[in-house]
Amino acid sequence: MNNEKANFMDRKKIALDRASELKDRIQDYIDIKDTIPTGMSPEQQKQQKEKKEKILSVFNATEENWNDYKWQFNNRISDLETLLKIVPLDEEDINAIKNVGQKYRWAVSPYYLSLISGKKFGPIKLQSIPMNVELMGEGMDDPMAEEFTNPAGSITRRYPDRLIINVTNECAMFCRHCQRRRNIGTCDNHTSKKMLIESIEYIKSNPEIRDVLITGGDALALPDETLDWLLGEIHAIPTVDYIRLGTRVLVTMPQRITDNLVDILKKYPPIYINTQFNHPMEVTREAKEACDKLSLAGIPLGNQTVLLNGVNNNKYVMRLLNQELLKCRVRPYYIFHAKKVTGTTHFNTSIDDGIEIMEYLRGYTSGMAIPTYIINAPGGNGKTPISPQYLISRGKNSIKIRTWEGKVIDYPNNPTVDIENLVRQSDSAV
Ligand code: SF4
Repeated sequence: MNNEKANFMDRKKIALDRASELKDRIQDYIDIKDTIPTGMSPEQQKQQKEKKEKILSVFNATEENWNDYKWQFNNRISDLETLLKIVPLDEEDINAIKNVGQKYRWAVSPYYLSLISGKKFGPIKLQSIPMNVELMGEGMDDPMAEEFTNPAGSITRRYPDRLIINVTNECAMFCRHCQRRRNIGTCDNHTSKKMLIESIEYIKSNPEIRDVLITGGDALALPDETLDWLLGEIHAIPTVDYIRLGTRVLVTMPQRITDNLVDILKKYPPIYINTQFNHPMEVTREAKEACDKLSLAGIPLGNQTVLLNGVNNNKYVMRLLNQELLKCRVRPYYIFHAKKVTGTTHFNTSIDDGIEIMEYLRGYTSGMAIPTYIINAPGGNGKTPISPQYLISRGKNSIKIRTWEGKVIDYPNNPTVDIENLVRQSDSAV
């Protein structure tokens, strides 16, 4: 055997050994993946269909009603009697709904309720149905001090070049983990036109603002006409580069993504949408269709998951969620560490849970499926990225890094040279 052939065989063997090592590294995920329910799995789709039929019969409604977001919105389930006709609840559940309902609003869109499984602590139920534990635990109403970051209109400004306009407190569902629970109040309220005009004027007179996030509540709870007007006004400000919309309707009421809405959004590019899928069960055929509609209209989609105890603080669930989202052209963007908000502290996890998830994602799945894990610094001090340690030490001429597999490696850290000098030197040397 000549040398060249021997080298080829060596290289092949090394590659095959490495491939087998990598195969071993994914085996735990392969073993567990199919035990995690997703909205696309046949069993889940069957359950969802049965639940949907039940809801339609309770409301004496039609398929056409189901596909109409106004019907979905107007028939949000917010009373125990109707809920009991659709979901089996035990005595504890019933008492909890009665107790919590006296303090906090609750409402679930028929669509989101159709995703619920029979499990007492299933991820859909945890996010949508009140529990007594909401009345316990110590939290703050406004841990990000948003009340102190409102310079005008309904604006929240925490950063140099961007701001939020809060346009409504309305949502298709009042998520039990809502981090802006204080805004949900006791009735639906859109921000007045006067406040919106004041917000627009503020942006016009502060030209450093180049990125405007419209949120609430749910930005897409606004009627089409109001959205059309508001987007048009902001889009016409020459110093604004793009607009973002914060909405959970892709998860809680995908019927909202109508042709008319898409036509409105298309008029004001570039528009980005940030949504909040928290569990693979939420990634359904209907949600995918809504995401596709937006993507095909040129609207990029990003996901901001909230890390929630009992829902997604599990490395396998989070990996599957992010992979399912990419199939719907939704880019996992952030994992938010849940803040200590009054009424939601049972959803808080340790930071170790978040770091363990991040550690597990890096290297084990595509970089596109890896969001940034964020802690919102208390007092409105901004988003702070948290990650496992990959930079172990930093010297003048070299650094020490840790790879995703835990190998520690030295890497050169040479000073950056002046490129113009270097080019001139090379020109005169040749
Ligand atoms: S959709 Fe968003 S704002 Fe509305 S309740 Fe859910 S988390 Fe809160």
